[in-house]
Amino acid sequence: MTCIRPYLLMLVLLSLSGLFSAVSWAAVPVQVIQGSGVKLEQFQMGYFVDETQQMTFDEVLQQTFKISKNSISLGTHAKTTWVKIEVENSNATPFELYLHHPYAYHNRAIELYEVVDGRLTRERVLDTDDKNTLQWMYRGSAVFDIALQPHQRKTLLVKSIAYSHQWFALNLYDADQSKRVLLSQSTDISLLVGMLLALIIYNLLLFLSSRLKEHLYYACYLICGGYWIALSYGLIADVFEVYGATAFHGHLALGGIPIFLLLFMMTTFETKRKYPIEHKALLWTLIILVGDTLYGLFDIVSALQDSTTFAALMMVVTLSVSVSMLIRKHPVALYFLLGHGLFVIFSVLAVLFYKGEVEFNYINTHGVGIGIMLEALMLSLIIAYRIRSLESMKATQLDLQLLASTDPLTQLLNRRSFNTAASKLLEQAVQTGQPTSVVIIDIDDFKRINDSYGHAVGDKAIKQLTDVIRSHCRCEDVLARYGGDELVILMPNTLQKEGYIVAERIRQTLEHTAIKVDPGESVYMTISIGITEVEENRRDVQEAISRADKALYQAKNNGRNQSQLFTE
Ligand code: GH3
Ligand code: MG
Repeated sequence: MTCIRPYLLMLVLLSLSGLFSAVSWAAVPVQVIQGSGVKLEQFQMGYFVDETQQMTFDEVLQQTFKISKNSISLGTHAKTTWVKIEVENSNATPFELYLHHPYAYHNRAIELYEVVDGRLTRERVLDTDDKNTLQWMYRGSAVFDIALQPHQRKTLLVKSIAYSHQWFALNLYDADQSKRVLLSQSTDISLLVGMLLALIIYNLLLFLSSRLKEHLYYACYLICGGYWIALSYGLIADVFEVYGATAFHGHLALGGIPIFLLLFMMTTFETKRKYPIEHKALLWTLIILVGDTLYGLFDIVSALQDSTTFAALMMVVTLSVSVSMLIRKHPVALYFLLGHGLFVIFSVLAVLFYKGEVEFNYINTHGVGIGIMLEALMLSLIIAYRIRSLESMKATQLDLQLLASTDPLTQLLNRRSFNTAASKLLEQAVQTGQPTSVVIIDIDDFKRINDSYGHAVGDKAIKQLTDVIRSHCRCEDVLARYGGDELVILMPNTLQKEGYIVAERIRQTLEHTAIKVDPGESVYMTISIGITEVEENRRDVQEAISRADKALYQAKNNGRNQSQLFTE
């Protein structure tokens, strides 16, 4: 009897441990496979977090698995997580099942253990840093084939080892669905990254043409954001087959997003010059973020763990500054607050997701990407506003320049701007060796028109003279109102005899052009003209003008209404 007791005790203990394990094993619902089509993307599985990160397979089998959905996020404390899935082939024929782990690219390793009737039948280890084990990696997804005999039940134990945050999904497919899923992967992310790429190119071009720093900062912000989205949401893994540690270190780009956003804010709001308190707040946040990112070069795991705290700090500062800008009625503050507000909301969802606090769905898993995209659209509005205000400033400057350089009555160049334009033109003429002629036109007895018909009619006469001159000149000729009733034409590539012909045409046309005074009453005017050619060796505008003036004086002396070439 005494020797039987220990056996009895052991039997009770064994049956109890069996019972416990049976409870945990039985608690995971069985996925029954019927027929040929399988596409299981929402089912229940069990998981267990090995906080020691050192448990053996046999030890894990003894643990209680918590029932959850097939996609989970557990935060940074769950670096080593085990999953249990029960499958059963209810068909009378063998079945080839495929287990997908679509976010395998950012994990350190994924291991799969197949257990039949409590016995380990097959084990596979996919180490993302070991090229020899990558035969189960397809476009960033881990894909394991599982052979199920007719009416066979299998327990699948998946060990997921994360670098930092533990989050993943496990899906089950038949051969056909498995192929389809792999082919349609990452299309939404490609679209998102493509949109960001277009914005990056546009802003880099804007920076090259305008040299405005805000375009460069905005482009850098989008480069960091776009790169991180491509990396974190699997596009880089899909296209370039970059996995494991390399992919994980790429997460450093995450630091660049707020850094360039802060620089963009400082430039757009001109905080250094206009808002010193806000500038200090942004500057200190910037220094902290740059520090954390540099620290990440040496210890990325710790840097990423701290990044949540720093991201929260940044969001508090940037939101406060945007509210302050709004209160101070900065014209782009509302756009910024809206865009940044959206970024903050979606990023908070993403941070909560990575911490395992909110459920696994598309919005939460893609929070940062969606936030960046929405913010980028709003920031584009700010860029558009800045371009528009700069353009209107430039237009005003141009208007002022035009006002200062032209005569308001005729819209011709005034004497000062004529001298500048003429000097440039003569410089070119010297280089090309072309002749240039100067023509000076003065209205005859203009005082009489003013005195007889009034100043308004006098103005009308000057305008009419301008129109006639314009209609006889080429576009390369430089026209100016040189004095009261005195107009001048500089004619490039023109001999003085050619200038004389044009002058005569103007004079004759004007002679027959009536100036309407009152309904039914018209007045005619005549002009005198002096013409000369700019001396080849002198190329001096003033000299040429004074010679043309002399010729004009001669025309007046000779009885007016005529053209005179300058003679010594
Ligand atoms: P001449 O044949 O010798 O040129 O005689 P003139 O009467 O035209 O004499 P002059 O060229 O010296 O006179 C210029 C006059 O033009 C004097 C001034 O009252 C008039 N004048 C100058 N600017 C304007 C203007 O903008 N509008 C009008 N209506 N008259 C002007
Ligand atoms: Mg005159």
